[in-house]
Formats: sequence, C-alpha cells, structure tokens
Amino acid sequence: MVGRAAPIALLLCLAASAARAADSLPQGALMLAQAPPGSKVTLAGKPLHVAADGHYVFGVGRNAGPAVMLEITGPDGTVTRRQITIAKRDWQIDRVDGVPEATVSPSPEDLARIKSDAQRVAAARKTDSEETGWLEHFLWPVTGRISGIYGSQRILNGRPFAPHLGLDIAAPAGTPIRVPADGVVTLADPDQFLTGGTVLIDHGHGVNSVYAHLQAIDVKVGQHLKQGDVIGGLGMTGRATGPNLHWGVSWFTTGLDPALLVPPMPAASQPAH
Ligand SMILES: [Zn+2]
Repeated sequence: MVGRAAPIALLLCLAASAARAADSLPQGALMLAQAPPGSKVTLAGKPLHVAADGHYVFGVGRNAGPAVMLEITGPDGTVTRRQITIAKRDWQIDRVDGVPEATVSPSPEDLARIKSDAQRVAAARKTDSEETGWLEHFLWPVTGRISGIYGSQRILNGRPFAPHLGLDIAAPAGTPIRVPADGVVTLADPDQFLTGGTVLIDHGHGVNSVYAHLQAIDVKVGQHLKQGDVIGGLGMTGRATGPNLHWGVSWFTTGLDPALLVPPMPAASQPAH
C-alpha cells in the first residue's frame, strides 16, 4: 500500500495546483499556461505579462463568467483565439455571531482607518514583478480546521457583509505560518483594523497572497522568501472570534480561492470537530 500511495499523492498534488491550460475554469481559479516564447497574449483585450519562456498566468474572480477570451499572437504573427468557459459555483451563507461590535459597526474614525488600510493592500496588490513563485505548486501555509471558505456571503452579528475572499484556518495561537510559494514581502503591517497583523507576498506576474490576524510578524517589506519560510505566528488580531489565519490569494486585485491551489490537507492535521 505504501508503494502505491506515492503516485496517487503526486497526482493529487498536480491536480490541485493552478489549472494548467484548461478550457473551463471554476470561479475563483488561477490558470497557468504556456505560449510559444515571444508570443503576446491578451485576456478580454488586455495584455497579460508573458515570461521569456512563454508562461503566463491569470485569475478569474468569484463573479466571473460565463466565459473569457484569450488571444495569443505567436512570434510569427499567427493569432489563436481560445474561449475559456467559467463554471458557476454555489456560495455558502456564513452566519457569524459574537464578532466584536466595534469591528462590525466601525466609528467614522475607524472607517477612515479601514479605508487607508485597504488602499495600502490594493497598492501592494498592483505589483507586477518577474518573481517566479506563481509557477510553483502552492503548499498549505498552516494546517488546521477550515473555519471559513472562499466566496461565502457573510452575515456578521445579523448584518450582511461583502463575500469572504479567502480561506480561514483555525489553529493554536503562535503556530508558525509558512509562505506557500517563493515571493517577496510587499506589506507587513502589525495592526490593520480588520485584519490585524497583515502580510502580503508578491509571487510574480500579479499573483499575490495575504496572511491576516497574525500575532507576530517575522518578515520585512522587500524580503525575499523561499517556499516554506516562516512569515509569522498565527493569532486573532483584528476582526476575529478566535485564533485563525485568513489566507487570501489574488491575481492583482481579483480575489481567488486558495483551496483550488493546494492539495487536500493531510488528514492527521484535521481535528474531528
Ligand atoms: Zn477570513
């Protein structure tokens, strides 16, 4: 049995990373493809960042669909068009009570802070670098109980909020959080109003990831990280009801589903409840 397990695990690993040259994508997916080196590629008419070897990447958001058009112009001028259909997903309704009221109904001063926090995150997400972490198979930054999934409509203390564009993983406070792929730190804020200790990592070509509610941050802006390096310690800073990591992956400012990028979580790390 042990001898057979390895190839199965490998298959799962390959299937669970960014979709590779697929003709259909679920909402929230990241797609990686390769054109002949020297090609130009556009998505819905907008140019994509193509690496020297022809690799490129893009993401489709939670509300994307029903299709997008890729246009690939080869080095010889040949134009190929590919329609990618986007499969609609059903979203869960997520009711969370007991959220600290000051974070659900912020004062005007707090609202101003929330806005400036969001602007800093959005600015960091516009980074379009030559980093190559986006080509790697992403790993789980931490394992534990999934306490919030991507896309769910949030009802906090009875009031509707914007959809949840990330994955929440509950684990003991202080658990080390590891970077899922190589990248460069573009933001390291110890105290954002909603997300508390917040780190943003650029993985190249617009692919970035965010880690929120950290109780400790071990990295600095501009620092290069290798897959598996520790970013900081899991916590419950900002708007949180218990120790958890909010993990988000975006393509520029389009929020994607991190669960589509990683293999199934090792069973031993998931508690029964
Ligand atoms: Zn979250």
